[in-house]
Amino acid sequence: MPTLTAAKKSPRLAARSGRPAPELIFGDLWEFDPAPESADPKLKARYELFIDGKFVAPKGGKYFDSINPANEQKLAEIALAGPADVDAAYAAARRAYDGGWGKMPGRERAKYLYRIARLLQDRAREFAVAETLDGGKPIKESRDFDVPMAAAHFFYHAGWADKLDYVAPGRKVAPLGVVGQVIPWNFPLLMCAWKLAPALAMGNTVVLKPAETTSITALKLAEIFQDAGLPPGVVNFVTGAGEVGAAVMNHATPAKIAFTGSTEVGKIIMRGLAGTDKKMTMELGGKAANIVFDDAPLDQAVEGIVNGIFFNQGHVCCAGSRLLVQESVAGKVLAKLKNRIRTLRVGDPLDKNTDIGAINSREQLDKITALVAAGVKEGGGMFQSPCTLPTKGFYFRPTLFSGVSMSSTVAREEIFGPVLSILTFRTVDEAIEKANNTAYGLSAGVWTDKGSRILKMSTELKAGVVWANTYNKFDPTSPFGGYKESGFGREGGRQGLLDYCKLV
Ligand code: NAP
Ligand code: MG
Repeated sequence: MPTLTAAKKSPRLAARSGRPAPELIFGDLWEFDPAPESADPKLKARYELFIDGKFVAPKGGKYFDSINPANEQKLAEIALAGPADVDAAYAAARRAYDGGWGKMPGRERAKYLYRIARLLQDRAREFAVAETLDGGKPIKESRDFDVPMAAAHFFYHAGWADKLDYVAPGRKVAPLGVVGQVIPWNFPLLMCAWKLAPALAMGNTVVLKPAETTSITALKLAEIFQDAGLPPGVVNFVTGAGEVGAAVMNHATPAKIAFTGSTEVGKIIMRGLAGTDKKMTMELGGKAANIVFDDAPLDQAVEGIVNGIFFNQGHVCCAGSRLLVQESVAGKVLAKLKNRIRTLRVGDPLDKNTDIGAINSREQLDKITALVAAGVKEGGGMFQSPCTLPTKGFYFRPTLFSGVSMSSTVAREEIFGPVLSILTFRTVDEAIEKANNTAYGLSAGVWTDKGSRILKMSTELKAGVVWANTYNKFDPTSPFGGYKESGFGREGGRQGLLDYCKLV
């Protein structure tokens, strides 16, 4: 933590006239000196495909650039896979499965997973910096959440690998075979771990495509697989954009496909696979309600609301993007929220003090900007942090919309950015009705002093996760997944393993 001696008066505050409102808190009064993380991310100039345990050039000889969204500078070149490379990756995965991974005793597979987890811990700082550079998230998140949680998923599933007889008590389980996986850009390394660890623990082999804008940490993870001695072909990475994802999902080889991304692309994939006997899990979009009752500890709730929507620039499928607040405390909560938002530090993601980093890509920034413009046009009352944004790179101010109706664009559509819509309710039933009035159903939050109300809400809310008096808490032991258009299947916990096996 920066110390007071490293702090100086904020020019922002000095420029304001009059006395600060009594509710303004410490962070608004002070700016910290820059505290950039300095670990070496050990990036290569060029990253090849990872197939059959080796880094190989794409057959088409093409590469694309991965940039740092914080300053728009090129970080590395990434291989562009073509259909022949996807074929080669699946052939390698098939050989690895038939050649022993699938039949290997679970306790042996566990050793590889433990090794991977430990090697990731050894290189944690390096991975955190690489993740922040490539994706734009604040270093404190990649350092304290993404990388440790990725290691935790490998540890947790290593623990399961020799206990698979307990995944479905009374039944025997067997791996499915080869699995195809496609992941998005919001948690690049964590999504890799989240998808790979249960698949491998169960004895499957994998072909995975990371998102185009964030492939680097997956390819660094491939270095760890080599160091861990993971048999060739057990995991293969093919990189590129949506066409490569489509080739991975539609290939004849995999017995199962697992997808995390938008509902729109999820539907395209499901249409393509309709009529096949492939198993599927889909982790799709969300528009979560964070519900604050008048008996909630309001300061704690405000922290939870801020964490719920501004964590990772709102690039979170389960972001609490709709705040439902009980009418009697709505004015108070809004005032507290505005004050808190003024204190959020937006800027250099590598700075340890940064709360909100860069938006992942220009495309995503344009999408957020367009949705916010629609919100303004529809008459929502908008408040944005007065912070100064860096001149280079993709940034968006933390934004609130108050006085919006259920039908407004910002209350309905997934924005996937730091934008919160605020609606009010009077009764418990109205809160439930409004929270469930969405096509999605991934997560929800409830803030109240009453245990009985928490139980009622968690029963009535049609959401895969309901957090009570907290938000955005994850653990490898907890199954995660959606209702309705947020997808199906679960990841994490015993339930997640069930989606990577067949009962025999
Ligand atoms: P997206 O556009 O659906 O992309 C997700 C992945 O699919 C990327 O790797 C993408 O490639 C690839 N892809 C694109 N078109 C494809 C196609 N026709 N066939 C197969 N793959 C294709 O989603 P995104 O914008 O990257 O990610 C944000 C979305 O993910 C949000 O909706 C969010 O809610 C959702 N998400 C859900 C969860 C969950 O657990 N439910 C978790 C995280 C994110 P390129 O991007 O490289 O082109
Ligand atoms: Mg990038």
